[in-house]
Amino acid sequence: MRAVLDHIGIAVRDLDAVLEFYEDALGLEIGESEEIPSQQVRAQFVAVGDVSLELLEATAEQSPIARSIERRGPGLHHITLRVEDILQVLAHLKVRGVPLVDEEPREGAGGSLVAFVHPSAAQGVLVELKQEGADDVSGASASPTSRTSSGEGSYS
Ligand code: ZN
Repeated sequence: MRAVLDHIGIAVRDLDAVLEFYEDALGLEIGESEEIPSQQVRAQFVAVGDVSLELLEATAEQSPIARSIERRGPGLHHITLRVEDILQVLAHLKVRGVPLVDEEPREGAGGSLVAFVHPSAAQGVLVELKQEGADDVSGASASPTSRTSSGEGSYS
């Protein structure tokens, strides 16, 4: 199986405040922010090489990101591995008895498909699997077969 680190999700209380660090202090290039109503989050991607940081701010009290911050405070939330065939990977993990948050992939932004593996499978790290969508054009990679993207699904 091949997997590429796509992005690192970071739960933040205040997106504008955290951009003072990433944009103003570090001088990183900030893309558009994207609201994902189904997950009640606003996501801001910050490109750092071939990988992105995904800054996640809750847009409602019941948002999974709000609940995560309540329990654990802001900070690292998940890592996302991009795979070519998410259905195949999920089937493989199920056979091996790996606990999954999402048994079936759900639609993320940019037409991507995403599914979360339960953190108990990876020593407390929430792992998101992602298969990029056809209309995903945000990539800056040299290879046309390995574009990066901004798809997102669940943050539970
Ligand atoms: Zn993510």
